[in-house]
Amino acid sequence: MSNEKEKTAGELLEEQLCEKPKNAALIMSDEEIAKADEFCEGYKSFLNAAKTEREATAEAVRLAGEAGFEEYVPGKKYAPGERFYFNNRGKSIILTVMGKKPLAEGIRLAAAHIDSPRLDLKQHPLYEDKDMALFKTHYYGGIKKYQWTTVPMALHGVIVKADGESVKVCIGEDDGDPVFCVTDLLIHLAGEQMQRTLAKGITGEELNLLVGSRPFRDDKVSKKVKLNILRILNEKYGITEHDFVSAELEIVPAFKARDLGFDRSMVGAYGQDDRVCAYPSLMGIIACKDPEYTAMTVLTDKEEIGSEGNTGLNSSYLPYFIDDLAETQGVKGHTVISHSVCLSADVNAAEDPTFSDVTESRNASKLGYGVVFTKYTGARGKSGTSDASAETVGFVRRMMDEAGVIWQTGELGKVDAGGGGTVACYIADLDMDVIDMGVPVLSMHAPFEVTSKLDTYQCYLAVNAFFS
Ligand code: MN
Ligand code: MN
Repeated sequence: MSNEKEKTAGELLEEQLCEKPKNAALIMSDEEIAKADEFCEGYKSFLNAAKTEREATAEAVRLAGEAGFEEYVPGKKYAPGERFYFNNRGKSIILTVMGKKPLAEGIRLAAAHIDSPRLDLKQHPLYEDKDMALFKTHYYGGIKKYQWTTVPMALHGVIVKADGESVKVCIGEDDGDPVFCVTDLLIHLAGEQMQRTLAKGITGEELNLLVGSRPFRDDKVSKKVKLNILRILNEKYGITEHDFVSAELEIVPAFKARDLGFDRSMVGAYGQDDRVCAYPSLMGIIACKDPEYTAMTVLTDKEEIGSEGNTGLNSSYLPYFIDDLAETQGVKGHTVISHSVCLSADVNAAEDPTFSDVTESRNASKLGYGVVFTKYTGARGKSGTSDASAETVGFVRRMMDEAGVIWQTGELGKVDAGGGGTVACYIADLDMDVIDMGVPVLSMHAPFEVTSKLDTYQCYLAVNAFFS
C-alpha cells in the first residue's frame, strides 16, 4: 500500500516550469558538507596568514610552490601540464597551468583580488598629543569609518630604509604581541557627536591609531612619549622617523578567523572580500592537472581603490604576461585574450534579514545558496559594469550544471539603492568574455565579515569545473 499522493497536473507543471531555489545544505550530502567544512579550515588558515596583499601573494607562492609551481621564466616554451607563477612586485600574482590546446584557442582565467579595506599609515604618521603617541592614517577602500574604532588592530607592512634595506613588519597577531586601536568618544560626552550623521560620526582625520603612552624620562626632551616609541621602533627595526616616508604600513583587525554560529556554518573574519574568492581560485589552480585549456588564476591588488596602479588589473601586467606567453607559441597576445573566458571572482552582498529593504529578494544572493553569478554590478542604470552576455551566462550555466555545482544569481542590491564594481570591466576592456562569480557576504567591508562555508566550497567547485 502506498500513501504517496498522486501529484496534480498543476504540481507536475510547477515542477517542470518553475524555479525552486534551495539552501545548499538541503542538497549536499553529509559527506560533501564535511568536505566543505574541511576546505574552510584551510580557508581560515589562509585568512590568518594573509591579511594584506603582500602576505596573500607570499602565501600563494608558498602553497603553489608546495604543489609544484615554479617561478615563471620569461621566453620559456612551456609544455602542457607545466605549472608556474609570475609574481608582480610582491603584491599580485598570476598562476598558470599550461593546457593541451594551443594558446590561440584561449585560456580560462579566474581573477580575484587580495587587497581589502583597511587603514594605511600616512607618510608622517607619528605624533604626540596629551602625553599619548598616535599614528595618522588614511583609510584604504570604501569603509563605514565608525566601524573601525575600538577594534583591536595589528600593523602589517614594509619599511624601506634610507640605505634601501626592506624591513617586514607584523605586530599584533601573536598572542604575546601588543595591539593598537582607534579610540571613540565615551557615550557620556558624545551628545554633540551623536547629532552627526552616520557618515560623519567618525571622520577620516579622527581615525588616529593609539600606539603608546609612556614617556622617555628626560626633562630636556619635549615629546617624550613619541621619543620613547621611536626608541622602541629603532631597537626593533633599526628605523628612524624619516623612514616612514618610504613605508607601506597597513592597519588591519588583529583578531583571527573564527567559526560563526552554534552550527559553525559560517566564517567570521577580516578581509573576506575578496579572499573568500581568492582562496578558492588559488586552490582551484593548484588542484588543476593537465587541463584542456590553459588555466590561469590572477590574484590582484588595488581593486578596492579602483584597480589603479601597476599591481591592479587596470594596468597592463596581465596582458603583457599573456603576450609573452603567446609569443612562445608564435601567436599574438590579443588572439589569445579574445578567445579567452574569465570568471571575475568577487563577493556579492548577501541578503541581510535585518536590512532586507536594500535588496530585491527575487534577485539578491542568499547566504548558503551556493556560489553566486552576477551578470552585472554597477549603479544607476548599470553604469560602470561589464554586463555579461546571454551567451557567456549560458556557457557558464551549462558548465556549472554539468559539474553539479550549486549556484545562484544575485544583483548588488535594489535598483538605485547603491552599487559597486569589480575587476570584470577591466577584463572586458581587454576583449575577453567575463562574468562575475563569487561568494555572498554579510557586513561587506566591515572589520568582521561573514560568509557561509558551503558557498565558499561551491565557489571552489565552480573554479574546478571551469578549469577542467
Ligand atoms: Mn571585492
Ligand atoms: Mn570590496
